Amino acid sequence: MRLVTYIYEDQLKPGAMRGKDIVDISSVAPDILSLISMKDDGLAQVQDLLQSDRATVSLEQVILTAPIPSPRRNVMCLGLNYVEHAEEHYSAAGQQTKVPEYPLIFNKATTTANGPFDDFRYDPAVTAELDWEVELALIIGREGRNVSAEKAMDYIYGYTVLNDLSARDLQRFHQQFFKGKSLDGSCPMGPWIVTKDQVPDPQNLQLVSRVNGQVKQNSNTSLMIFNIPSIIEHLSFGMSLLPGDIIATGTPSGVGFARKPPEFLKAGDIVECEVEGIGAIRNVISAV
Ligand code: MG
Repeated sequence: MRLVTYIYEDQLKPGAMRGKDIVDISSVAPDILSLISMKDDGLAQVQDLLQSDRATVSLEQVILTAPIPSPRRNVMCLGLNYVEHAEEHYSAAGQQTKVPEYPLIFNKATTTANGPFDDFRYDPAVTAELDWEVELALIIGREGRNVSAEKAMDYIYGYTVLNDLSARDLQRFHQQFFKGKSLDGSCPMGPWIVTKDQVPDPQNLQLVSRVNGQVKQNSNTSLMIFNIPSIIEHLSFGMSLLPGDIIATGTPSGVGFARKPPEFLKAGDIVECEVEGIGAIRNVISAV
């Protein structure tokens, strides 16, 4: 199943895709976070609606928002989770590559949530080093603490595509990543949550980013340093994961700051991020 949140006739609604059309599922749950809390029972009710003759609207008639437009908690993110990205990171800093022994974990404020096709509006006075990062994101389906890697996949509800837009200068100025990763709207997500039953091997998905049509990143989730079960084991060790939590699993090599010469986004640029079997998002960078 592909689950969306959309605006239709000025109303924000949860929906499920039937082909290219959307079935309103607000009779099952008022929003996607509530649906996730209903676990399998919620999905069974959505499945019934999809099989009914319930009216649909087409994608062209709506505006898709992030599948979870108002996350309960900050988006949890891994840094340097692909070897080649770790290499380009250290190389750009003139340092020797250190493959991390523990995952590097940071977060993005809830106010970063942005739609899959919405503009990213920013003030060029705030950052001159805006960068792209295509990532596979996990959506957690149930509460869990100290989840072992063996049981980790039971805690996943689904997957979405995420662009971890990053202000590199702010990351540098503030030392900690939080501010540079938390500009308003800097986490475009979507276009939907694909439920995990539709993704037989999340650890073998191609992920690609393009800027103005030019491929910048092209890698595979098989190349993660900490794989999905390991990420969940590390994050949940002594810290509860909650239904609806969003975990960004890290970006592969090909980001702007590590290019020679470095490349950064500017107003008018179009950034596309795509993960095989999940979907593609496309955002225009616009200056305010
Ligand atoms: Mg990232």
